[in-house]
Amino acid sequence: MNPSQFAYQRAGSVDDAIALLQEHGEGAKLIAGGHSLLPIMKLRLAEPETLVDIGRIPELLGVRRANGEIVIGALTTHHQIATDAQIRSAIPLLADVAATIGDRQVRNRGTIGGALAHADPAADYPAAVLALEAMIVARGAQGERRIPAREFFLDFLTTALQPDEVLTEVHISIPPEGHGWSYQKLANQASGYAIVGVGAMADLDSQRVVADVRVGVTGAAAVAWRAEATEAALRGKRLEDGTVVAAADLVDGEIAFLDDLHGSAEYRRRVTRGLTRRAILEAAARAGRG
Ligand SMILES: Cc1cc2nc3c(=O)[nH]c(=O)nc-3n(C[C@H](O)[C@H](O)[C@H](O)COP(=O)(O)OP(=O)(O)OC[C@H]3O[C@@H](n4cnc5c(N)ncnc54)[C@H](O)[C@@H]3O)c2cc1C
Repeated sequence: MNPSQFAYQRAGSVDDAIALLQEHGEGAKLIAGGHSLLPIMKLRLAEPETLVDIGRIPELLGVRRANGEIVIGALTTHHQIATDAQIRSAIPLLADVAATIGDRQVRNRGTIGGALAHADPAADYPAAVLALEAMIVARGAQGERRIPAREFFLDFLTTALQPDEVLTEVHISIPPEGHGWSYQKLANQASGYAIVGVGAMADLDSQRVVADVRVGVTGAAAVAWRAEATEAALRGKRLEDGTVVAAADLVDGEIAFLDDLHGSAEYRRRVTRGLTRRAILEAAARAGRG
């Protein structure tokens, strides 16, 4: 099917994009890489009257290191994130996650800003930005604000962004030297989307006691979430297989698991438990003390 008719406007700057969103109101939609928006427009699940193209705004490009953070522009593609030297060395979890997204074409066109703003329940980045406690920066007519990843994903395809806001950057604090990370994903074989994806960050002391652990889960439910009960059960404990199994089983009670053509709720629950164990154990092993 073809999309319904729409007007097209190219924004030259973020302020320009915000002004266009305000001018065209509810009928306007931003487009970046187009790899989530265009498919749903072709299915007529979205019928924007005006597309505001932000795909060539220079201030949304690039990766930089500043004040102990890696700052990633919204237009950074999945391929750039998977291969960027600064991201690979400072936050390998994000690079690993980006490398699993879709296929080469999707990774070359799709952007981190578009993926986060779209908030597809099967998208990969949410697991990583939750485990990394990223800050998502948005700018609108009221100015700029930093939204913690934990407060960003609200529901199915719904985020904390306001209709006139542009996601401009993702800020990620550089984790301590020696931290461990892991992304475990059961992928849909056709698209690459996560049926379940689990991102974990771990920090152990010299006695193998968990100093910190953070677990983000995507795909399993309508919205990505932090597996807080699992994390709490591990913090301050000596890391042993039995402790990890018991902690991972706590994901059971944390969320309403999705039940759809890709898997029943019970299947997703079991897969989530298993991938949570694997992610924590691999992150612990990479921390060099696991
Ligand atoms: C065949 C295929 C396979 C895929 N496989 C995967 C996969 O395995 N894992 C995965 O995670 N994703 C997958 N995707 C989705 C892909 O990652 C998209 O690139 C991504 O979800 C959206 O990024 P985009 O730049 O293309 O956004 P667009 O499609 O341009 O926009 C998506 C939405 O975000 C809004 N938006 C875009 N940029 C901004 C911004 N800066 N500020 C505010 N709102 C904004 C738009 O208005 C729109 O509502 C797949 C897509 C396809 C077509």
